[in-house]
Amino acid sequence: MKFWFGIPLWQRVVAALVLGVIVGLLWGPGAESIKFIGDIFIAFIKMLVVPLIFFSLVAGVAAIGDLRKLGAVGWRALLIFVVTGQVAVWLGLALGTIFEPGVGLDTSAIQMGAVPEPAPTSWREMLLGMVPQSPVQVMADVNVLPLIIFSMLIGIGILMAQGEGEPAQRIFDSGSIVMQKVTIIVMELTPFGVFALMAWVAGTLGVPALLALGKLVAMNYLGCFLIIGVMYVAIVKLLAKLPIMDFFRGIVDAIAVAYSTASSNATLPVTMRCVERNLGVSRSVTSFTTSLGATINMDGTAMYLGLATLFGAQIFGVDLSAGDYVTIAVLATLGSVGAAGIPGAGLIMMAAVFTAVDVPLETIAFVAGVDRIMDMMRTATNVSGDAAVAVTVGVMTGEIDKAEMISADDV
Ligand code: ASP
Repeated sequence: MKFWFGIPLWQRVVAALVLGVIVGLLWGPGAESIKFIGDIFIAFIKMLVVPLIFFSLVAGVAAIGDLRKLGAVGWRALLIFVVTGQVAVWLGLALGTIFEPGVGLDTSAIQMGAVPEPAPTSWREMLLGMVPQSPVQVMADVNVLPLIIFSMLIGIGILMAQGEGEPAQRIFDSGSIVMQKVTIIVMELTPFGVFALMAWVAGTLGVPALLALGKLVAMNYLGCFLIIGVMYVAIVKLLAKLPIMDFFRGIVDAIAVAYSTASSNATLPVTMRCVERNLGVSRSVTSFTTSLGATINMDGTAMYLGLATLFGAQIFGVDLSAGDYVTIAVLATLGSVGAAGIPGAGLIMMAAVFTAVDVPLETIAFVAGVDRIMDMMRTATNVSGDAAVAVTVGVMTGEIDKAEMISADDV
């Protein structure tokens, strides 16, 4: 036991991945019999989604402290979240279209489950579907968008209630900390889930599947590097007009923690400290933008959802129309908004996008074995994005002390 927990989680996950591949290749199609362990792992992640989003988002909105400030800071942050999210999804779609990571793989050995239910098609239905008519139903169905809206309304309600809302605020603050601890417990299942899923993929589809997954992983990293190296650099330099090197030096701790935990939520305390202490953004803007960002600003995840949908369509031979691309772009952005900042959240959100464009849900189990290594980079990207938005909003609202930045001489 001591030996097991003495090894950092990510190392156990990588070892499980390699071992899973070896066992799968030796065992062959029989490895299907241990796939259920992977399914249990995915089910545990699903368990976290609703309570995590609910507690962390309410706490994040309530943390802003006053309604007027919520408006001033909120619309700027939301605008940047939405625009960068869109750019990210289209980047993922472009990478998937140009490099075609899933083309040429024969997946006939994978048993298909039920055909996904068609999603509502008209915009009126989609709009109605976003209203949390029955909050309990919304939670039971893990329907993330109405859940986000409900959580934000509760947060605003707490702000409006002022002093009387304080006990509620404390409940949500503490609830979100508790949920982060529960996340840590579930993360311990990752090595077993990864092992089983990799053995299943390698056993049923063999080396070609591994090559396709390898390409997907490479695309995921390339996309994330482009988001950080081009989009965030442009935001920090052109919008916030801050020195790039100081920005990255200031958030390096957060990037490292994000990469190793694969959880924006678990990284949140470090992100906050970096943004406030190293980059000089005021406490209230920091706590609002980073905690809201940890849940809804996920450009790495948005990019990945676009890429993964094309991957699923390619491996299962689904033809996508131009209209489908637009649907993917909209749903992947919303999906990244709805994804909780926990390991594997991007994986769960795939279901919503896949269903809308008839990509088989089997893709989720197929990519789940390598999800963790991609998730680490996505999370590092997501957290860098939260910090980029925090400094930009800080500059726009005059809530940043540039002298606080590590070396302010070249500002
Ligand atoms: N793990 C990511 C995060 O916490 C979300 C994802 O799975 O893409 O930011």
